[in-house]
Amino acid sequence: MFARPFIDSMDFAINGKELCGEIPIVTLSRLSDMLANSAGTLSYRVRGSQRDDRHSLEIVLQGTCNLRCQRCLGEFSYPLELTAHLRLLPADKLEQMDADDEDAIEATSQLDVLALIEDEVLLALPFAPKHPQEACSAPLKDLQQSANPFSVLAVLKK
Ligand SMILES: [Zn+2]
Repeated sequence: MFARPFIDSMDFAINGKELCGEIPIVTLSRLSDMLANSAGTLSYRVRGSQRDDRHSLEIVLQGTCNLRCQRCLGEFSYPLELTAHLRLLPADKLEQMDADDEDAIEATSQLDVLALIEDEVLLALPFAPKHPQEACSAPLKDLQQSANPFSVLAVLKK
């Protein structure tokens, strides 16, 4: 059984704690909805740090997601590698922050690590995933390739 980790975020930051693990993608249901299939795992590391009165978490993620190409509807694997720095703030301070300030989350003693990671992955995925042009078998390209050169010639003769 896969245990869903919760951490005390301030304790993590103050004591420089670290948590590493692997998450089966299938356990991330919001992410799975975006993917062609939910095979594979993501590896993660969450590390707390404190500098003066600033507390933050660093999240490092690595893995592969199977996306569906929006052009040809084929599957392709998308390598994911990201590092996020999130400042920990009490709820009342979080509300006062401007949207374009640094990324911040609420400092809580029961931080759902998986939900946090899932949020970061969803932000990192392309909005409309597509194969690289040369790897895509979109209908438009198929049409051009299968066009009969003689029928083109016949049109030209008229
Ligand atoms: Zn494609």
